[in-house]
Amino acid sequence: YTQAKVLVYPKYGEPKDVLQLHKHSIGPPSGSQVNLRLLACPLNPADINQIQGVYPAKPTFTNILGTADPSAIGGNEGAFEVLSTGPQVQNLKKGDWVIMKRTGQGTWRTHAQLEEGQLIKVDKQGLTPLQVGTVSVNPVTAYRMIKDFCDWDWMRSGEEWLIQNGANSGVGRAAIQLARLWGIKTLNVIRQRENPEETEALKKDLLDLGATAVVTEAELLSKEFRGIVKQLTNDGKQPIRLALNCVGGENASAMAKVLAPDSHLVTYGAMSRKPVALPSGLLIFKNLVFDGFWVSKWGDKNSQAKEATIRDIFELTRAGKFKDIPVQEVKWTYDKEPKELVEAVQDTLSGFRSGKTIFVY
Ligand code: NDP
Repeated sequence: YTQAKVLVYPKYGEPKDVLQLHKHSIGPPSGSQVNLRLLACPLNPADINQIQGVYPAKPTFTNILGTADPSAIGGNEGAFEVLSTGPQVQNLKKGDWVIMKRTGQGTWRTHAQLEEGQLIKVDKQGLTPLQVGTVSVNPVTAYRMIKDFCDWDWMRSGEEWLIQNGANSGVGRAAIQLARLWGIKTLNVIRQRENPEETEALKKDLLDLGATAVVTEAELLSKEFRGIVKQLTNDGKQPIRLALNCVGGENASAMAKVLAPDSHLVTYGAMSRKPVALPSGLLIFKNLVFDGFWVSKWGDKNSQAKEATIRDIFELTRAGKFKDIPVQEVKWTYDKEPKELVEAVQDTLSGFRSGKTIFVY
């Protein structure tokens, strides 16, 4: 029997108020069950919104793990290693690495027993737990938004732009690298740091990753921004065809204003919690299109395309063309205090962080 530890919540609320560490034991796998050990799982912003009860994908509250009250398990993605397999398991064996087929299966746990059908096998050759454990939400989102909302094929390669806010996020960093590989220039918006050297260091970090240009939100909202864009885009001859928005508010409207006619602004997050205002003129005279993207829904509807996208990202990673995100690792040792784990979760939505938190086991 394996002793498992799981971060669960019996009701919605702030993680620090509702998240609990639950211990249970896992028996040998039967049928098509697979016993797993955690390698690495991230703490993504949506995971916190889900615990708060403000996320549209609601978790299942059950007694399946023997909790006192029906509880949900935190976390939506992660890399796990196969420890043992039931007699009817067909394509997995001890030592294989897997990720979750869908979101909502609960990944913040040291061990799990799941059905083979809930898992995607990963060719682990040349990959790290971090790369595998963070592939299915952020990189897939960036990849699909760039590929699916703009017809880049007919474009003059290397002379078209995308603009994005939250450019230092996991999604933003993936977008910078993929766009560069696909011959698209990126204009990246970050929030100014308190200390100017930190802002410059973050700009340099993104430029080193392949960003064409990085500006602060203050610059984006300033009167000078049109001039900055003119200069960057050779007096507008290089059009900005796509905007990726995870912030909202006036930040999103300012990005929309520099888009070329018929372009798309795709909203995938709402970090500022402010609504996106659509200036009427941009709809009438520039025929801009405002879309939304949700990777969970897209992945459930397009499971094969999702697996192909993940394989493609892994190929780029193996080839050294897709770099790791900065992270703060929290090692989930068996004697880890619940307090430390819960504090790490609670901290996820505080801004200006140096990296995403990752639980590793
Ligand atoms: P990360 O945890 O990697 O980074 C968080 C980002 O949000 C940073 O760029 C941070 O900037 C910014 N941020 C934090 N607080 C604020 C704020 N108050 N105002 C403006 N920006 C803020 O994020 P992810 O890449 O995992 O996710 C980014 C966003 O994308 C989230 O909203 C997430 O929910 C969403 N998302 C949506 C998906 C979808 O399918 N629709 C899939 C994946 C992510 P700073 O460093 O300046 O604080």
